[in-house]
This record gives sequence, structure tokens and C-alpha cells, in this order.
Amino acid sequence: MTETEQHDYDVLVIGAGGAGLRAAIEARERGLRTAIVCKSLFGKAHTVMAEGGCAAAMGNVNENDSWQVHFRDTMRGGKFLNSWRMAELHAKEAPDRVWELETYGALFDRTKDGRISQRHFGGHTYPRLAHVGDRTGLELLRTMQQRIVSLQQDDYAETGDYEARLRVFAECTVTELLTDPSTGSGQAGAIAGAFGYWRESGRHVVFSAPAVVLATGGIGKSFQVTSNSWEYTGDGHALALRAGANLIDMEFVQFHPTGMVWPPSVKGILVTEGVRGDGGVLKNSDGKRFMFDYIPDVFKGQYAQTEDEADRWYEDQENNRRTPDLLPRDEVARAINTEVKEGRGSPHGGVYLDIASRMPAEEIRRRLPSMYHQFKELADVDITAEPMEVGPTCHYVMGGIEVDPDTGQSRVPGLFAAGECAGGMHGSNRLGGNSLSDLLVFGRRAGLGAADYVVGLERRPAVREADVEVAAAMTLAPFDAHPAAAGGENPYTLHAELQRVMNDLVGIIRTESEMISALDRLGELRARLHDVVVEGHRQYNPGWHLALDLRNMLMVSEAVASSALLRTESRGGHTREDHPGLDPRWRHRVLVTHCVRAGADGGVVVPRIAVEPAERAPMRADLLALFDLTELEKYYTAPELAGHLDRVE
Ligand code: FAD
Repeated sequence: MTETEQHDYDVLVIGAGGAGLRAAIEARERGLRTAIVCKSLFGKAHTVMAEGGCAAAMGNVNENDSWQVHFRDTMRGGKFLNSWRMAELHAKEAPDRVWELETYGALFDRTKDGRISQRHFGGHTYPRLAHVGDRTGLELLRTMQQRIVSLQQDDYAETGDYEARLRVFAECTVTELLTDPSTGSGQAGAIAGAFGYWRESGRHVVFSAPAVVLATGGIGKSFQVTSNSWEYTGDGHALALRAGANLIDMEFVQFHPTGMVWPPSVKGILVTEGVRGDGGVLKNSDGKRFMFDYIPDVFKGQYAQTEDEADRWYEDQENNRRTPDLLPRDEVARAINTEVKEGRGSPHGGVYLDIASRMPAEEIRRRLPSMYHQFKELADVDITAEPMEVGPTCHYVMGGIEVDPDTGQSRVPGLFAAGECAGGMHGSNRLGGNSLSDLLVFGRRAGLGAADYVVGLERRPAVREADVEVAAAMTLAPFDAHPAAAGGENPYTLHAELQRVMNDLVGIIRTESEMISALDRLGELRARLHDVVVEGHRQYNPGWHLALDLRNMLMVSEAVASSALLRTESRGGHTREDHPGLDPRWRHRVLVTHCVRAGADGGVVVPRIAVEPAERAPMRADLLALFDLTELEKYYTAPELAGHLDRVE
């Protein structure tokens, strides 16, 4: 084997956001030697940016809440395409995961009688988001890091080595998963480890591990306007594809309705839904609260029809219906899009979000301190005195690695996934707050699944030297100027073009011709990526890092565009102008992306993908019975409902 730095673990967790840390804690608590690898500094993952809160049906603020209500809300939000088993596990286990965080040292905001406080969010029937002001993700991550340190202290006490069973490799990017074709299921070789490089030195590193948990987050950096940070280049999605796993639901990308629109340098930065949860309202340039005009039929009866009722609801949820400002995100994003398109937008192409006229300044600063500072510092807007200008921003990907709901295992033996890079839980649209709880519930389950898998192994798969060499050559290719490309392609130019294609052609509103054109353009970019050239050395070289990330972004973007082309209906985070409305024939169908040429292949920078439909297993009868027949009839076909209790004499 070449002289590459090597490490050997039982479980390798790629990603140090909420999902990765929770998985690592679980694997370590089961006694396995666990490593966490992350591309940025430890503690800087996306999770830290989560503002509004973590959804869990604890019933602290409204005791009518229960896992059944949370389950129903999640399925409705996802327009009944969700993996119902994941939605069930999530709704049942989220409260325990939040309480468990308090045992790690988290300090959530409290109700007057000392319980964990919960706030309103779009699509949730009751106040359900446990929060720490508008800095919930920071507390979540801080607490789990604290738990990791405490586990390391236990190990020190026992072995004299803090890192004996849990070590963090920060600023280290994984570029390929390594598999062992001599083990596994026949379809895909079992996981043997991962290959990566240190961002600072550019030196290579190999991790041998029979189980890998992918927890790499989202894909937002493929879009021009996004709330996501530089790390979210779909690495886990692409790594899994290349290793032989499937992705599902990739057409479903969530555009959060409220990102900043001005000034241009901060366009896309998130304005938390907590602003609306706490009383903020959307208005157009006529000063009209326009969301009352956009309540879709499937939600009629659940939302207030008048401003008076909507305002009363904040104080009395028993006798009033919720404000349509808190419809699920896909509905609000489309409504804003329409208002702007029809000429009722704000000066910078958004709409207004007004909390200033609805709450005393002191209260706004107390409840939404980050928002107050964000607008003051970045846009010179005082949100206690004037409305914010907001518009849709690419925020979250519902699609991800197909996993077994109970264990988090993909179809590749030894490969697990959790958090935003895993698919299925949120169906076609995620409810706000359901990501932080998803990370905790499924992070734990993936850590447990990986630990059980390793314990049950008869033989550890082996890393093959040839695979390491191919992976190493792939990372270094951008330094070798391509003879045919005088000057070569610049990674920043390619990235900007990719972002424009995805933004303009595969954004909130889609059509067949735009999708075809997007796929053509992505094909051109894929060809040009072969000629990408970077200057300088391997020591901290952001242009090189981007060139490598582009492989992943292109694969994932093709998965999004191809899936969006195939789904001829509009559902959740996928709106087809040429196929408006839900089509019941698509309700039980998911689109599965797989890699046509799996594995690290020296000749193929961006392996081809293919997308095919598959049937989602019918919902268990006891779960289906939690819904009224009249509601299900809006989504399901009559034969599918034949077994519903109300239909059975
Ligand atoms: P992340 O936290 O995204 O972490 C990914 C990790 O993977 C990072 O450590 C990264 O370095 C690492 N990584 C990626 N690629 C590689 C690689 N190739 N090699 C090594 N490491 C790699 N959700 C809620 O439920 N409530 C909220 O209030 C909320 N607010 C949000 C606010 C903002 C501004 C944003 C952007 C999102 C918000 N979300 C919220 C969504 C939620 O924060 C994310 O979906 C969630 O944090 C994702 O967590 P994760 O653990 O899956 O991944």
C-alpha cells in the first residue's frame, strides 16, 4: 500500500452535525471504537445554524399534543409520500431524544411552570418546537460535543488515552467510500472504509472501518440562492451513490419561504420561521396579508379565514384556527413567488415580513435575538421598527440515501445514513423543526444499527490498495493540466454556471422543457469537469476543494433534475407548472436514483446515474386509521382506502 496515513476503527461517522454526533455517541456507548470525520471545524456543522427549534410532541404547552398528532402533521406536510415507518418512529421517539439532551446538559427555554417551552411552527397543530431563543441548533451541538468530551474523559480514566474509543478528525474531507467486493450481498460489496484528504495539508488519509455512517447534510450549494453554507455540496449523497446505494425522492427540494433578499451579498440567508410562529405576518406591497388567498383545498377547514381569527389563535388555539402564514413551507414559498411575479412584491423582489407592528421592541429582541442582529448588521434594518424583506431560498433536501427505517442501513452492507443526507422521513416536504428531531432519532438509530452490524460480522472487509490508488489519482487529477484544455476550466466558473442552471431551471416552479434543458446543460458541465484545472499546491487550496466537490454537486444535481422530469405532478417541494396539482397515481410512487457505474472508477469523474420509479409499501392499517377518511380521500384512490376502518362495515 502507498505511504498514506491510515487509521482503523469499528465505526466511521462522516459528518459532525447533529446526526453524526448522535450516531457517534451511540456507537461509542455500545463499546465500539468510533471516529468522526468532518470537513469543517468541529462544532461548525450546519446544525449550528438551526434557529427555530426541535419538534417533539411533549405536550408541555398544549397537553392535547401526542405522537399521533405529530405523525399526522408530518404525513400531511409530506403529502403522504413519507416513509410512514420513519414518520412513526420519529413522532414516537422525538420527546425522549429531547429529554435525553437535557441529561447531557442542554438548557431549553422554559414555560412559566418550569417545563421545556415549545413554540408554534408551520404545519404543526400544536406548539411543539423545543427551543433556545433562536439559537437551538447551537445548543444541540454544544451539548452533544460536551457529551463526547465526557465519554472521552471516561476513556482516559480507563485507558489513559482520551481518544481510545472516540476520536474527531476535523477539517478532513472524505472523497470516496471503499468497499470490499469479496464480502457483501452480491449487489454491492460491503463497506471497508473511506478515503479522504486533510484540508490544510492536502495529504491523503485512509480509514479502515467495516461500518460507515454518512451524516453529511444537504445539497444547497448547487443552487444560487440558498440558506446553506459552503459545506453542503451533497457529498454523502454522491459517496453513497458511487458505493452502490440508492437515493430516493431527489426531486423534492425545499425552498424556505423566508430568506433575506437584500443586500445581494446576503441573499438567501435564512429568516427563521420562528418569526411567524411568534406572530410575524407576511404582507405584499399593498399592505395586504395575502396568505388568506392561498389556502389550498387539502388544508381548507384547518386554517383561519380571517385576520381576526388568525390573530386570536395565537392566544387561544382551542377555539380558533391557525394563521395561514404558518401553512407548510412549500405552500408559503409558492404564494410568495406568485405575489412577486404578479407585481405585488417589495422593492428588492421579495415580500414583507412584519413583526414590528405586532410586538413590543423589547419582546422581539428577547425572542429573536439572532434575527435582530442579523438584519441590523447585514441589512441595516431594525426589525423592531420596520418590516423585513424576504423571499424563497433553497434550504433543505427531502431526498436522500434510501435506508432501512429501523437501522438506518442502506442497501450497501455496512453503509448507514442519518440526518439530512438520508431520504424518506419527510416525504415531499419537511415541516420546520422536524429536522433537528430527525437527527436525534435517526442519528441514534444509525449509530445503534452500525454497532449491531459490526458486532455481528464474521469477517471484516478489507481495503484494497488498488481502490486507494484510484481514489488518490482522482483527487489529484485537477492538478494535471489537461493537454486538450489550454488553460483548462476554472472550478469557480463551473460552480457559478451549475448554480444558475439549478436556480433558473430546476427551482421552485418547473416545466418539462426547462428540465430537459437543465439536463443538457448539466451534461455539458459534466464534460467540462474533466478539464478542470487548479493552480497552486495541495496546502489549503479552496479552488482544489471546490473542484472535488463539483463531482458530487453534478451527480446530485442530475439526480434532482432527472427525478423532477419524471414526476408529472406537483407535490410538496416539487411544483410542475405543466402538471399542476396532486395526482393520486403518484402518491405511492417514489423515484429511486442509482449509479450506473458504481464504485471508484479512474476513467469516470462523474459516473452516470439512472432514475426509476418504485412502489412505497402501503401504510399499516392502524396508522391509516389515525386519519379521517374524508382527509385521506383528498390524497388516496378509492381502492387504496378499501381497508380503512370507516369503510369496513
Ligand atoms: P449537518 O449539520 O449539515 O452536518 C454535516 C456534516 O457533514 C458537517 O460536519 C460537514 O463538515 C460534514 N461533511 C459534509 N461532507 C463531508 C465530507 N465529504 N467529508 C467529511 N465531512 C463532511 N431544522 C430544524 O429542525 N429546525 C430549525 O430551526 C432549523 N433551522 C435551520 C436554519 C438554517 C439557517 C438552516 C440552514 C437549516 C435549518 N434547519 C432547521 C435544518 C437543519 O439545521 C439541518 O437539516 C440539519 O442541521 C442537518 O444536520 P445533519 O446532521 O444532517 O448535517
